[in-house]
Amino acid sequence: MAQTPTVKLNDGYDIPQLGYGVFKVPPAETERAVSEALEVGYRHIDTAAIYGNEEGVGAAIAASGLGRDELFITTKLWNDRHDGDEPRAAIAESLEKLRLDRVDLYLVHWPTPARDNYVHAWEKLVELREAGLARSIGVSNHLVPHLEKIVAATGVVPAVNQIELHPAYQQREITDWAAANGVKIESWGPLGQGKYDLFGAEPVAAAAAAHGKTPAQAVLRWHLQKGFIVFPKSVRRERLQENLDVFDFELTDTEVAAIDAMDQPGGAGRVSSHPDEVN
Ligand code: NAD
Repeated sequence: MAQTPTVKLNDGYDIPQLGYGVFKVPPAETERAVSEALEVGYRHIDTAAIYGNEEGVGAAIAASGLGRDELFITTKLWNDRHDGDEPRAAIAESLEKLRLDRVDLYLVHWPTPARDNYVHAWEKLVELREAGLARSIGVSNHLVPHLEKIVAATGVVPAVNQIELHPAYQQREITDWAAANGVKIESWGPLGQGKYDLFGAEPVAAAAAAHGKTPAQAVLRWHLQKGFIVFPKSVRRERLQENLDVFDFELTDTEVAAIDAMDQPGGAGRVSSHPDEVN
């Protein structure tokens, strides 16, 4: 199996560019699924307090026998815990469930703009990093005005912004801002969450056929070649393996451009919630 490449974050730490995301993995299945992911070679796990499955992730890590520095673990601060010193209590709870003394990456899950407390949440994450509870810090679902506001308030640029991103919904305003400001993009819903016929789309199907790969592998390869970090979700071992088996081929510039052209105008390809609506 080819080694997963890493991406360097703006704080100097490396993150494996491909990982395993456990959104909607049922808590009772999480230990088994994460153990299988670690067995087949994943070393980066993306979870969140709201997923309710951090305990299963922690149990799988503990059972794996892998060294702490071989793993990259991300979790996220939920929306109702931005205020006061709640972020510190929230990360303490997450760390206990994960059986860790620090996470590799801690994210503000949504900006919840109607609550107008995302700047405070970001200030708190800076403190948590200084306290050694999170090695790197970042945000999720932040639009450009949110990003500009937190950077202006703190002078601290997030290491990543984790956003919905797949061929029909490419969020170029945010990816351009991120590239100009040294923020890495993590694509959530990289396979469109199975909510549209991504795998049957001509540019994807043609690229897959040309390389003897599956459409899912062609799409993941597109994310990787765009420089995005991805962590597709599956609970099936053969798909976990398939999604990791994407380092032995390369899409041509023409194939990448054809998938680039699948972006829907005006953000019409979005399949999940808009950050302004989540509060
Ligand atoms: P995804 O695009 O990874 O889609 C997952 C679906 O694709 C699964 O239902 C699975 O059945 C299917 N699938 C996976 N591999 C496949 C394959 N090889 N062939 C065919 N079908 C396949 O969507 P996601 O799970 O929403 O996103 C991935 C991760 O992103 C999540 O697990 C989570 O860690 C993260 N996420 C973050 C946020 C956020 O707000 N920050 C929101 C959603 C997801």
